Amino acid sequence: MTTMLRSKGLFIAGAWEPAGDVEDVVNPATEAVIGRAPVGSQAAVLAAIDAAREAFDKGPWPTMKPAQRQEYLQRFLDAIRAREEDICRLITAEAGATLVLARTLQFGIPLRIAQHIVDICTRDPITPVAPQLNDMGQTTLLGCGVYVREPVGVAAIITPYNVPFFLNLAKSVPALATGCTVVLKPSAFTPFEALILGEIAEEVGLPKGVLNIVTGGPDVGRIMTTDERVDLVSFTGSDKVGEAILAQAAPSLKRVLLELGGKSALIVRPDADLDAAVRDGLFGFTAHCGQGCQLLTRHLVHNSIREAYVEKVSAIATRLVIGDPAAPETQVGPLIRNSQRLRTEHYVEKAKAEGARLVIGGRRPADRPRGYFYEPTLFSDVRNDMTIAQEEVFGPVGVVIGFDTDEEAIAIANDSRFGLNGAVHSADTGRAYEMALRLRTGGVAINGGAGGILSAAPFGGIKRSGFGREFGIEGLNEYTYTKTIAFRAV
Ligand code: NAD
Repeated sequence: MTTMLRSKGLFIAGAWEPAGDVEDVVNPATEAVIGRAPVGSQAAVLAAIDAAREAFDKGPWPTMKPAQRQEYLQRFLDAIRAREEDICRLITAEAGATLVLARTLQFGIPLRIAQHIVDICTRDPITPVAPQLNDMGQTTLLGCGVYVREPVGVAAIITPYNVPFFLNLAKSVPALATGCTVVLKPSAFTPFEALILGEIAEEVGLPKGVLNIVTGGPDVGRIMTTDERVDLVSFTGSDKVGEAILAQAAPSLKRVLLELGGKSALIVRPDADLDAAVRDGLFGFTAHCGQGCQLLTRHLVHNSIREAYVEKVSAIATRLVIGDPAAPETQVGPLIRNSQRLRTEHYVEKAKAEGARLVIGGRRPADRPRGYFYEPTLFSDVRNDMTIAQEEVFGPVGVVIGFDTDEEAIAIANDSRFGLNGAVHSADTGRAYEMALRLRTGGVAINGGAGGILSAAPFGGIKRSGFGREFGIEGLNEYTYTKTIAFRAV
């Protein structure tokens, strides 16, 4: 990406508002400035909340027929598709995703998820309640009713840096599809992947105030999660910030959806297809340089095949091409910033100090003096109580832990403060399914899963991975509340 990225400002009430401040945004692979982004002020976020409130309270968006909203949103998705190449280049330059990941995980999958939401958003919003006899003492009444689904109101959507375009889209579309209005705030590292949605909203003529986009850091996010006029907060990010947001939103009793971090376990049984398990394990700590919430970073491998597994993963991981994610041959891109690399280094040192055996990596690649690169790093002889097995690194670090029985594997997998994802590899899919039922997580993939996220299935976590669900009908319903309307039948 050679041209400097610029934005007309912040997208508020259907217009571009200049921001007081601007900030350089750097490409994490080159450290070069790729654009100047507006930085949202307190006044800007308050104006965005005003606009969203007004668009919700005065309509027409929330009271429009779902099919009309569907038409708008279909045009929105079509316009996004028309810009696919530009958006994928932007994802690569701003978030550091390799082109392959940008096209698949970061663009293709959220488009499928959003399309499914748009396809189902005209679902019948009226559910009948069967008639029942109510004994009122002297008389007996026959009553019946319906319940309807209504939009919750103004939704504050706050997203992280690792899959920004994905989440900006996959959170905004269901909110908008139900009739909510939105104030979206991306990570300060990745403002352009949100602001581009403002350009598209303008292009397809979304009614003013329905989608508002402000940039900035925690200060702006704090206002979005405390302002009385916001009804719902949908947040994806770290468990620490999730915890803060829950507290911030408590005094005004907002509905809160939290999609947080993970330390997901990959269980490899002795009868597994070892090459398939190795492919999954490799992806689990190297994809997007380890910056994925649901990546499989804890590899629980049966002791009879553990050494073979470690050898195979290491042999491939050391051959992966590290470099500029915009180059087609690159397999591992950079971390987002040096702060994230320092965090990774801190965890690697701690793992060594606690007695884990470093098998590969554990350093910056010597031939990459610029950019926030770090070599894929694998530890073996890890105990599950070590820091490296318990805390989310969000860098390219995997750990291998041995086990002898299925029961032990399940116990180790569940011995985590997180509960987002999990995986089992086994020739016995029935047994793998039984084990999947016992994993305390929001999702489990058996033998590699479905080849990507199932776009109609709910996604989310338990424990410190958060609560609430995204995608599919369950994700759509998070942005609604039910209202029961009762009738006297006679
Ligand atoms: P982060 O928690 O540091 O920041 C996320 C967002 O919150 C940013 O927009 C930030 O500006 C904002 N923020 C920070 N403090 C705030 C506050 N007090 N009030 C309101 N907003 C505030 O996360 P990150 O470093 O950008 O992203 C990495 C994290 O995101 C990882 O922990 C990862 O697991 C998680 N994540 C989870 C999922 C999921 O679906 N479960 C998906 C992607 C990423």
